[in-house]
Amino acid sequence: MYIEMEKEKGVYRANVLVLPYPSQGHINPMLQFAKRLAPKGIKASLAITHFLSKSMQAKSGSIEVVKFSDGFDDGVFTQADGEDYHTRLEVTGSQTLAELIKKQDSSGYPFDCLVYDAFLPWALDVAKKFGLVGAAFLTQSCANNNIYYHVQRGLLKVPISESPVSLPGLPLLELADMPSFISAYGSYPTYFHLLSNQFSNIHEADWVLVNTFYKLEDKVIDWMAKLWPMRAVGPTSMYLDKRVEDDKGYGLNLFKPSACMNWLSSRPTGSVVYVSFGSMASVGVEQMEELARGLSGSGRYFLWVVRASEEEKLPKNFAEEMSEKGLVVHWCSQLEVLAHHAVGCFVTHCGWNSVLEALSLGVPMVGMPQWTDQTTNAKYVKDVWKTGLRARVDEKGIVRRQEVERCIREVMEGEKGQGIMKNSREWRNFAKEAVDEGGSSQKNIDEFVAKLVCS
Ligand code: UDP
Repeated sequence: MYIEMEKEKGVYRANVLVLPYPSQGHINPMLQFAKRLAPKGIKASLAITHFLSKSMQAKSGSIEVVKFSDGFDDGVFTQADGEDYHTRLEVTGSQTLAELIKKQDSSGYPFDCLVYDAFLPWALDVAKKFGLVGAAFLTQSCANNNIYYHVQRGLLKVPISESPVSLPGLPLLELADMPSFISAYGSYPTYFHLLSNQFSNIHEADWVLVNTFYKLEDKVIDWMAKLWPMRAVGPTSMYLDKRVEDDKGYGLNLFKPSACMNWLSSRPTGSVVYVSFGSMASVGVEQMEELARGLSGSGRYFLWVVRASEEEKLPKNFAEEMSEKGLVVHWCSQLEVLAHHAVGCFVTHCGWNSVLEALSLGVPMVGMPQWTDQTTNAKYVKDVWKTGLRARVDEKGIVRRQEVERCIREVMEGEKGQGIMKNSREWRNFAKEAVDEGGSSQKNIDEFVAKLVCS
C-alpha cells in the first residue's frame, strides 16, 4: 500500500533511508523499525547490498528495498577474510550509498534522514555530507552497548584483569558473562573492532535508537541517555503491532523457511521445545551430538532449526530416527513459531533478536550462548529477567546431554518452571505495553517522527 502511495509524491511527511549491517540479525530489527514508521506517514526504504538482495526469500511487506554495493556483488565472504570485507564495505559502501542518496535527490523526493546501523559509523559521514538527519541504530542490547562503549573510551581496560566487573547500570558481571570478544580477548579482532568502533562518532548523531524497551533495561538506558539523545524503540517485532495487518513475520529471510506450522499445530499446547542458534553461530560436532542426545533424552517434542551449512554435523540418521518426536528444519519463520501455542520452551543461542522475540512472546528460554553478545544476554535471561536458565558448560566448553535434559525439565516442569513461566508472561505484557499506543517505545518513535517532520 505504501509503495503504491509513493507514486503520489508529497503524500509522505518525510522520507527515511534505513541501512542495516548486511546480516539477518541486523536486517530484521531495522526492517521492523522501518515498518513502524510507515503507519505514521513516513516513507521508509531499506538499503540492502546487491549480494544479499539475491538471497532474499520474500518481499519486505510495506517497505521498499533499495540496493547498494559493498564491493562483493557476486561473492560470498567468509569470517577468515572479515577484515577485508569490512574495509571494502566502508570504502565501496560510502561511495555507493552516496550515489543512492544523490539519485534520490534528483528524483525530486530526497531522503530526509538516514537511520544507519551503528556497526557502520561511516554512514553518518555520508548522511552529514548530504545534510540528512543521522540516526544511529543499535541492534544489540543496551547492556552490551554500554560494555563496548566503556571499552572504546578506555574506561574498561581489556583484557580484563579482575572480575566481577562493575559498570554503571549493569549487574556485576563475571568474565563468563562478558561478551566473548572481551572474555576471550583477541578472538575475532575484526568483530571486536566493529563493535567498539560503533561509538567513534556517535556523539555526532542526531539520534541514537536502540532495539530494547525502557522497563527491560531502565538503569542502563538512564545512564546512556545522559551521553547522547538515546531512545529505546523496541521490541521491533511486528507481532506486537496489530496496526500493521499485512506483516505476520519479518518478511525478508535470507534463508528459505521450511514448512513446520502444520507439524506444530498437531502438538499439544506448551509441549514443544523449539531449538535455534540463529543465522551465524557454528556449533561443533561434539556439541551438536550432545544437544541431539539431550533433546531425544528429554522425551519432549522438538522443532530444531539446523541450517543447511550445519546439517552434516548432526548424528547420522538422527532426524529419521527421531521423526516421531522431532522435526529438523533448515530455517523457519521464527516469530510465527515462537507465537505458536504448542511451543513451551526455546533452546537458544541468545542472539539479541531471539531473546527479545521470546521475551515479547512469553516463551521461557534455555540459553546456550556461543559467542559475541550472547553470553551477556544469557546472564540477563537467567539472573535479571528470570525468564529462563543458562545451560552449564563442562571444562571443554560443551553443554552435555544431561545438562540439556536438566534445563529443559526445569524450565518446563515443577515449581521452578512455573516461576519462570510467570516471569515470562509478565515480561511479555511489559513488552506489549512498551509498543502499545502511549507506551514508552511508541512515545519515543512518535517523538522521533515529530522532530523529523518539523526539521
Ligand atoms: N530466525 C528466523 N528463522 C530461523 C532462525 C532465526 O527467522 O529459523 C530469525 C530470528 O527470528 C531472529 C534472527 O533470525 O530475528 C536471528 O537474530 P539473532 O539476533 O537472534 O541471532 P544472529 O543470527 O544475529 O546470531
